[in-house]
Amino acid sequence: MPKVWTWTLIRYGGALAAGAVIGFLYGLPVLGALVVTLGLLFWQMYNLYRLERWLATGKIADVPDGEGVWPPVFAKIQFIKGKVKRRGKRFRKLVKDLRASTEAFPDGGVILNASHEIVNYNQAARLLLGLKNRSDRGQRIENLLRFPDFFDYLNNPGDRVSVDIPSPSAPETWLACRLIPYGPEQTLLLIRDVSQRVKIERVRRDFVANASHELRSPLTVIMGYLEALGDDERIPDSWHQPIRVMQDQSVRMRRLVEDLLQLSKLESGQSVPKDRVVDIAAILATARKEAFALPEHPEAIEIELNSPANLLGEETELQSVVSNLVSNAVRYTPADGEVTIRWTVDAEGGHLEVQDTGIGIADEDISRVTERFYRADGGRARQRGGTGLGLAIVKHALRRHDAELEIRSRLGEGSTFVCHFPRDRLALS
Ligand code: ADP
Repeated sequence: MPKVWTWTLIRYGGALAAGAVIGFLYGLPVLGALVVTLGLLFWQMYNLYRLERWLATGKIADVPDGEGVWPPVFAKIQFIKGKVKRRGKRFRKLVKDLRASTEAFPDGGVILNASHEIVNYNQAARLLLGLKNRSDRGQRIENLLRFPDFFDYLNNPGDRVSVDIPSPSAPETWLACRLIPYGPEQTLLLIRDVSQRVKIERVRRDFVANASHELRSPLTVIMGYLEALGDDERIPDSWHQPIRVMQDQSVRMRRLVEDLLQLSKLESGQSVPKDRVVDIAAILATARKEAFALPEHPEAIEIELNSPANLLGEETELQSVVSNLVSNAVRYTPADGEVTIRWTVDAEGGHLEVQDTGIGIADEDISRVTERFYRADGGRARQRGGTGLGLAIVKHALRRHDAELEIRSRLGEGSTFVCHFPRDRLALS
């Protein structure tokens, strides 16, 4: 037992004994002991009162004095109090520094809870999103950023890393929004000003669209004269072959110009509205008819329609998707091969499949064939009459319909291109 306790017990025992002895002298030893006990009790009460007051005032230096066990008790509490205060100070400084660094961050950061309500945000987010300090805290983010693309991304990010939206507060400003889940059911919404990138992309797209558009008229004139020359009987025989080559090349060039125009239109657009029903049976039948019109085609081009469901979207774009996939299947499949166009619907959505038994695509090329002008078999693909833009058009048109393209292929065995449409793109009758 610590010395201070031994001494205190001895002193209190002595006081009790003295009280009893004095009481004994008056014939009342118990009363004497009781009076001393009461005195000791009041003394402890008084020290407890001083301890409570000291803790309440919070001033560490004003430690009360005392005697017996109280001074070490006060000293220990003073030590703990000092430690807690120093820790609190350090913690407050850390929070302050952290806040200052997030405020200095050029990107916006918004903390959202599980219900997508705004918990906190930094200065950049305030400026980029036009948030107001009092009223916007606790608001659901989708009420402030009312953009369909953002809404879709927030509720179903899929494999998208981020989504671009116009700033609700600054005109001509575009923001890339990225969701990063962390902690228990919290999400950090990162916002970056990408106006410069969006502007450069728009300039590039507009340039390609304008250049393609401007090339159309002179090309039409050239094609017209070439046709007239081809039909002119006064032209010497030796000219017929070069004129035919020029005609073929100008047809190719027109196809290229048309594809470039179509691609730049698809790239600029957002998600296609779901207000129009596209007849799947009709677009598959049209693609099949077009395939039979191609110079060389397999005899077996079959349609398997496994569901009466249709799609919601833009008919010309979906027609372009199917036509491009079917025309590829036909061009890369020998005459004795088979092409199957299949439409199925399951719990996940609609699946539009174009399968062929053609030349197939090497593993290393599969992930690249949707890039512009990428050709898996180089010059041979060009000779087959392709522009190199077909699958890029397919990819962008599908993206506008919230759909994804899956490519399965084996060299020498054939390829299967599957377009996966989500259920909310289906028109179920
Ligand atoms: P292209 O006009 O050259 O066909 P695409 O963008 O349509 O351009 O296709 C890109 C490349 O992908 C093609 O050059 C070809 O190498 C490959 N490809 C596309 N579809 C098929 C297919 N069904 N079978 C084999 N290769 C294909």
